[in-house]
Amino acid sequence: MTKYKPKTNLVHGGTRRSQYGELSEAIFLTQGFVYETAEAAEQRFIESGPDEFIYARYGNPTVAMFEDRIALLEGAEAAFATASGMAAVNAALFCQLKSGDHIVAAKALFGSCLYIIETLLPQFGVEVTFVDGVNLEEWQAAIRPDTKLAFLEAMSNPTLELIDIKSVAEIVHSVGAQLVVDNVFVTPVFQRSLELGADVVVYSATKHIDGQGRCLGGVVLGKAEFIHGPFATYMKHTGGALSPFNAWVMLKALETLDLRCNAQADSALLVATELEGHNGITKVIYPGLKSHAQYELAARQMQKAGTVISLDLAGDKTAAFDFLNKLEIILISNNLADAKSIITHPATTTHQRLTAEQRESLGISDGLVRLSIGLEDVDDLLTDIKNALR
Ligand SMILES: *Cc1c(COP(=O)(O)O)cnc(C)c1O
Repeated sequence: MTKYKPKTNLVHGGTRRSQYGELSEAIFLTQGFVYETAEAAEQRFIESGPDEFIYARYGNPTVAMFEDRIALLEGAEAAFATASGMAAVNAALFCQLKSGDHIVAAKALFGSCLYIIETLLPQFGVEVTFVDGVNLEEWQAAIRPDTKLAFLEAMSNPTLELIDIKSVAEIVHSVGAQLVVDNVFVTPVFQRSLELGADVVVYSATKHIDGQGRCLGGVVLGKAEFIHGPFATYMKHTGGALSPFNAWVMLKALETLDLRCNAQADSALLVATELEGHNGITKVIYPGLKSHAQYELAARQMQKAGTVISLDLAGDKTAAFDFLNKLEIILISNNLADAKSIITHPATTTHQRLTAEQRESLGISDGLVRLSIGLEDVDDLLTDIKNALR
């Protein structure tokens, strides 16, 4: 399928059609597999081919279809699906780290990623240095000859800062370390991080990939040697496998991923442009606006600037809550990347557990709201936002 363009692969890539010739991909809701003979069972355990399975914790045909299809989109040699985005992050790190290792991480991290890196890994003797991800000098200073790995989120939540993947990858590779990129906010449609120099890319498929708020899921992509080697071994024995049903939902969702991401990003740019300078908003943060500090990097690194906008409302928590409560179409939720537009007040929800100082250092004020743009008519969204602001 590699000779075809991404949109074609998103519809046909990875399909394993059974003897019944079904049009839509089948859900192989099975834990195990049977063998014609004892000899065949023995052989399967010695070596199994791409369409030969042993147990659903190791692999399943529906899960494999999802993995192959997303690998084609990302331009990766291999992919392994996981039960959630956090199962993906956890395994991508733990499968290749051991006591005494040193890693470097960007400090603006999704809460659970921060917990793994700041709390869990040090409990197992891994030394962590945090850097301001946008500052290349800090990366340069933090990387040591013995650094094993670097971790970053390509676009930070909720302040939408971008990290220059190509430059960070060069620094990380100069000492032979691996770069692991959490690309959730950017989406696989708008950035091919492996081409930019990442060694491993992780996604919460819960977000844009499902895109309709149904299932948890995750996926890790990279070189076949890594994915089929240490990563698969870790996953097989620790049990974070994606359920075949959820894999089927994600697989079918990939058929519309490109359409959805493009439509949502187009609307996000329109909303961000329209709201800039609007009464009641001190700042519109969106990497597709010229006012964004990294507008040029966004244009170079991403095809479109994503589906999430952050707004700094003139005012405090009360002003932000008033705004949220007056919205009619846009729903209050801590999710994102859904077909339904969603508004979040990070300071009191997703980032509530941080101290006031930590929030300040990450730019999360009490007036900041995160807006995930969905598939509604953009005029309706703008009317809803402007009415609530008024
Ligand atoms: C949501 C998210 C995760 C975790 O994904 P789950 O599917 O909820 O486990 C990890 N990283 C980022 C950046 C996320 O937004």
